[in-house]
Amino acid sequence: MPSTLLSSDLLAGLQQRRPLLWLNPNLGSTLPVDAPHADDLAEAAARLQRCAPLMATLFAELSDTGGKVESILTAAEPLQIAAGQNQQQGAWYIKRDDALAVAGSIKARGGFHEVLALAESIALEDGLLTPDGDRRLLASERARKLFATHTVAVGSTGNLGLSIGVLAAALGFETVVHMSTDAKPWKKDRLRARGVRVVEHEGDYAKAVAAGREEALATSRCHFVDDERSRMLFLGYAAGARHLALQLAEAGRPVDAAHPLFVYLPCGVGGAPGGLTYGLKALFGRNVHCFFAEPVASPCMLLQLAIGPQQPVSVYDIGLDNQTDADGLAVGQASPFVGPLMASQLSGVYTVRDEQLYVDLLKAKQTMGIELEPSAAAGISGPAWLTLSPGGRSYLRTHDIDLTGATHVIWATGGSLVPQPEHRRFQERGRELRGSQTHFVDTVSVIDPRCL
Ligand SMILES: *Cc1c(COP(=O)(O)O)cnc(C)c1O
Repeated sequence: MPSTLLSSDLLAGLQQRRPLLWLNPNLGSTLPVDAPHADDLAEAAARLQRCAPLMATLFAELSDTGGKVESILTAAEPLQIAAGQNQQQGAWYIKRDDALAVAGSIKARGGFHEVLALAESIALEDGLLTPDGDRRLLASERARKLFATHTVAVGSTGNLGLSIGVLAAALGFETVVHMSTDAKPWKKDRLRARGVRVVEHEGDYAKAVAAGREEALATSRCHFVDDERSRMLFLGYAAGARHLALQLAEAGRPVDAAHPLFVYLPCGVGGAPGGLTYGLKALFGRNVHCFFAEPVASPCMLLQLAIGPQQPVSVYDIGLDNQTDADGLAVGQASPFVGPLMASQLSGVYTVRDEQLYVDLLKAKQTMGIELEPSAAAGISGPAWLTLSPGGRSYLRTHDIDLTGATHVIWATGGSLVPQPEHRRFQERGRELRGSQTHFVDTVSVIDPRCL
């Protein structure tokens, strides 16, 4: 049976940790009935807007932007050339979430949104805040006293903990961040310095999340930010799509059939790239093509989408170890909330070796002066998959795409809070590895669950 033949190819490719591109056969199918609506997306954007003055009150570094937490979009022709791509293949941009204020990563989008929504709802219920009231009240002494009787907990490989922890602590919440023991020491130190309780757990990210969820259930007045299923995180990420649309318009980059938009997003559990994809598809429909990038050791979203939503699956089930230096992407099992939403929206997923991440982050440093953490460099190899791999080319043919007018947005997701010595180590590793290359393999689209 051909489908079995194809599926065992994909399975073997994943198991051998070969970089590969998987194209989503269900792109364009219908969304689940409980998918977020346009109203939900608008509400999240409105929340972030009305809370901006509050954010400016809480964080001095936001006074320049009036409390808005957004990132710039940078033209990236030098990086494009260094990556061996030419101008006939479209124009490259980098979306600089690595430099998002306060949290230093893409997690600021979802994390701040969820903590702000929680603070609003507690204050509304208490009567401290009215629906139209000035959100700066949430930084008042009375609000701090109120929030001090509530706990915010989260399980994280690091960056989500930083985002949730810093804002929740600033508002006065009791704050607990559950981390796996391999989370970076500087992230733990940074949180502890802000009064956050950091609990370390043996094992991977999923263990830290599970332990956090359990402790939260046993604690009264405790809100657990659930990275594996939170709608509020997802909607916070989705709100970022509108800002990108504005930036593209300002940069004179239209998005239509003759000017398709390609977006390359590093994926861990799926919330951040999933939310942004969802928001972008709502704005641009079939003229935006979103691809996720996952480490070869942790292709959890690829695996789940290829198998289908009925059967929850983790990368351990196919013999992978989920060991990668891309700590923001080291997730064994995709979000069961986001996976089904991506089934109809996502164009595909490609996998990346750690070696490639180091080579690419060095290129970003040398050509643009941008310092990324390994996870954040996963988007850089995206355009080459489209132009050089057989699967990428077939995608362009199937969708009748001429890349001349295309815009490629590489979503850089973290790095600005990483200490300098770590950056030097990352870049040194890139120098050692320069010359190692991605090997393109043919694409296949379905894993037969019977192969597991
Ligand atoms: C968390 C993270 C991602 C991916 O976000 P998910 O919601 O886990 O998919 C990408 N890059 C960095 C730097 C991250 O911290």
